[in-house]
Amino acid sequence: MLKGKTAIVTGSTSGIGLGIATVLATAGVDIMLNGFGDAAAIEAERKGMAAKYGVRVSYSAADMSKPTEIAGMVAQTEKEFGRVDILVNNAGIQHTALVEDFPVDKWDAIIAINLSASFHAIRAAMPGMKQRKFGRIVNIASAHGLVASVQKAGYVAAKHGLVGLTKVVALEAANSGVTCNAICPGWVLTPLVQKQIDAQAAAKKISVEQAKHDLLAEKQPMIEFTTPEHIGALVLFLAGDAAETITGAALSIDGGWVAQ
Ligand code: NAD
Repeated sequence: MLKGKTAIVTGSTSGIGLGIATVLATAGVDIMLNGFGDAAAIEAERKGMAAKYGVRVSYSAADMSKPTEIAGMVAQTEKEFGRVDILVNNAGIQHTALVEDFPVDKWDAIIAINLSASFHAIRAAMPGMKQRKFGRIVNIASAHGLVASVQKAGYVAAKHGLVGLTKVVALEAANSGVTCNAICPGWVLTPLVQKQIDAQAAAKKISVEQAKHDLLAEKQPMIEFTTPEHIGALVLFLAGDAAETITGAALSIDGGWVAQ
């Protein structure tokens, strides 16, 4: 159904982004990968994905904290693939500290990467999408786009902002064939979350397994991690025909986190 479509997935060298890129490639979508990491490992991933799923896979090293590089990533995709049909704004970082201790440079980086990058990418991709009367924009927000937790001022502010940006873009694009939605995951076991688990295990002198359980139990009624592939499947659904009237939504996939 999506064969021949093209997608940018930001932050797709790891975790959720890699899961989304893989699921889209499985459905025949050409993929522009993006994110940091070892150059040889990224090239191996790129080649492997292209060979396994028979799609074109390219890579942009654009830094999502740099507006000109983000515009360059969109331009590179339009040049190499002819267009951007699906834009998944996924790259994100985390830092935890009380607001009075929150390092200013961490605040600035989180707002730049977790919020402003989506604005810059949408701004660059929207003209082509409107022109072709087709676009699917999916912003990977978080349960923290809907509710708060302590020590996450930057992250919660950025993700709430991203849900707001999603709504504005959805309204503006409502009759142009372009939809814009946010996905709000609960806990997904990725390097970003593993860091928090390891820190908790060390601070509380408990096992990593216990720290994993405690992390889930504190927030989610369902003691279960969502997988990157589950999020990929939701992106795939949002990119398909059945979702053409879903726009401006913040879709939870969080084991019941925000139902409380
Ligand atoms: P991750 O650390 O595994 O992956 C983050 C990706 O973003 C990597 O590919 C990294 O290279 C890339 N990245 C980071 N800074 C970048 C920059 N400046 N420019 C380009 N790429 C950059 O994290 P993850 O858990 O897969 O998170 C992905 C997204 O999902 C984030 O937006 C995160 O906030 C969101 N999210 C994660 C969870 C979770 O439980 N893991 C829950 C809700 C939302």
